Amino acid sequence: MTAKLPTPKPGVLDIQAYVPGEHSLASGVKPIKLSSNETPLGPSPKAKAAYLEVADELELYPDGGATPLRKAIASAYGLNADRIVCGAGSDDLLSLLARAYLGPGDEGLYTTHGFLVYPIAIQACGATPVVAQEINYTADVDALLAKVTPRTKVVFLANPNNPTGTYVPFQEVRRLREKLPSDVLLVLDAAYGEYVRRNDYEMGLELVATTENTVMTRTFSKIHGLASLRLGWCYCPAAVADVLNRIRGPFNVSGPSIAAGVAAIEDRAHVERSVEHNDRWLTWLLAELPKLGLEVTPSVGNFLLIHFAKGDKKKGAAAADEFLKSRGIILRRVAAYGLPDSLRMTVGTESDNRAVVSALGDFLSQAM
Ligand SMILES: *Cc1c(COP(=O)(O)O)cnc(C)c1O
Repeated sequence: MTAKLPTPKPGVLDIQAYVPGEHSLASGVKPIKLSSNETPLGPSPKAKAAYLEVADELELYPDGGATPLRKAIASAYGLNADRIVCGAGSDDLLSLLARAYLGPGDEGLYTTHGFLVYPIAIQACGATPVVAQEINYTADVDALLAKVTPRTKVVFLANPNNPTGTYVPFQEVRRLREKLPSDVLLVLDAAYGEYVRRNDYEMGLELVATTENTVMTRTFSKIHGLASLRLGWCYCPAAVADVLNRIRGPFNVSGPSIAAGVAAIEDRAHVERSVEHNDRWLTWLLAELPKLGLEVTPSVGNFLLIHFAKGDKKKGAAAADEFLKSRGIILRRVAAYGLPDSLRMTVGTESDNRAVVSALGDFLSQAM
């Protein structure tokens, strides 16, 4: 008889582990890494200085409530600090929200090309992931509503979405909230919200302020350039903040992260420079890539989706990826997102962006 071994709860072994963007090349050459939507401008120098300053206090536990950081965020955005919860990256908060509101028999809803952390968070709780179809790579409110059942407990919507770069206008998000049952938690993941310059876009603050069932998550990993520190925050109804504070790790944000986060949020000029850099080069890429004959999905984030010939051995996404790597450039394959014929490119420095366009031009001409 074989001994019984520890067994994870139902659902866990159905999870496809998250595969991060690649970061090194077989050749060992330092790559142009445009695979994880990190900022080409790096963090605010003030954030780095604040981080280094804390190096003398590493033996001390941090403030368990990340109080200085919640206060800095509250004052930057005019929010109530009691309703802000910080986490080790927004991934931490997405998992906590799932753990608090989803269990076996419940359904968590997201869209076809939605961020892959959502199904992982949903399944890790033993709940069932349900996918609503997108239209033109964009989340569709009616399709989401059509998938709602009495078992639906949480809807995850990245706005703008990764990896598609598309967004849902605020009026539509508001309509989604109005039509969803009141006991369904709507999680608006605005990881790229700072980059969006559209009049009809809103990160979700107003809905969180005016409803009792909407949460907005944000991150320091993207525009603030602190991905390595693992730092995120969410703005919640008071009851949801209370729930998260009960189940989160008592020191889920490190002291260096709190210090760097405060400095980052206060450096508005650095954020503004990052938005301007992105705006300029995203616009450039969205114009240059189609000139090569490549289709791109209009993005409002700091990345864009490039489409290649479907299933084509010579001109397809896999061949393009190999060719780019031979030129020292790493983009992101997104087959796991149901996009086998596309690559996601993060907006880089001027020279990175020019290198990609030039390499893709060469790729397409040699593949003729
Ligand atoms: C990058 C990203 C995040 C941020 O994750 P962190 O854990 O904060 O680094 C969240 N949501 C989406 C859609 C993302 O692409």
